[in-house]
Amino acid sequence: MSSKQTKTNEQTHFRTCNLCEAMCGIEVKHDGAKVLSIKGDKNDPFSKGYICPKATALQDLHEDPDRLRHPIERTANGWKTISWDDALDKVAAGIQSVQKKHGQNAFGVYLGNPNVHNMGGMLTIKHLLSSIKTRSRFSATSVDQLPHHIVSMHLFGHMLRIPVPDVNRTRYMLIIGGNPLASNGSIMTAPNMRQKLKDIKARDGKVVVIDPRRTETADIASEHHFIRPATDVLFLLAMLNEIYDQGYADKARTNNRAAALAPEIARLADFA
Ligand code: SF4
Repeated sequence: MSSKQTKTNEQTHFRTCNLCEAMCGIEVKHDGAKVLSIKGDKNDPFSKGYICPKATALQDLHEDPDRLRHPIERTANGWKTISWDDALDKVAAGIQSVQKKHGQNAFGVYLGNPNVHNMGGMLTIKHLLSSIKTRSRFSATSVDQLPHHIVSMHLFGHMLRIPVPDVNRTRYMLIIGGNPLASNGSIMTAPNMRQKLKDIKARDGKVVVIDPRRTETADIASEHHFIRPATDVLFLLAMLNEIYDQGYADKARTNNRAAALAPEIARLADFA
């Protein structure tokens, strides 16, 4: 990150949009607390100047008159400003009271996506959740990306060792049930997926989408194949069968890496 002074009061800061995992570089001009403009950072090595509309809307978030800038409490006479100490005490008492009366898991937590891209959130949320001891935890992750974490844990030993695919040099991209044009390459750390997918095709590569729905990504893919909902596991097993049956798999290597799978390979023939 860097910043430069251009006039007496106007400054330019180069930051990363923290709204999703695509991590687009942004150039923010401001005069004190007043945001003058938010643009894509052309020199950012990942996003190369690309941003989606959410990044420019960071200014709306910043300036929204309804944005909470301090804790407030609802009283019989309307909303009242209270101190952070009071707010924290009241919230803690409320959580304790609910858990005492209805059990630990009666208290639910939902964590929004930007928490994951915020250093303060990354450092503190884990400890907060450990102290609250509730299993009722929900987040953008539980809605759409836990399978990535489970696969990463089994393949690479940790749920956060998520590989960054080399989309810039990919020649054949198979997308099963994903819609990166809507997610903007989140979880792939690949901003401006529309251009990246077009680039694959321009390199004489192929983008193939398997999806029950004609998504935005399917619209620009080289091929789109509809699949009946809830049959994707059968499709994947059939693909595995074909890979082993045709001798494409390096058996020694795959058996070493996924020893537990080896005894099951013979059963894949059922999915031919
Ligand atoms: S895709 Fe949009 S929301 Fe996500 S990091 Fe880039 S600008 Fe921000």
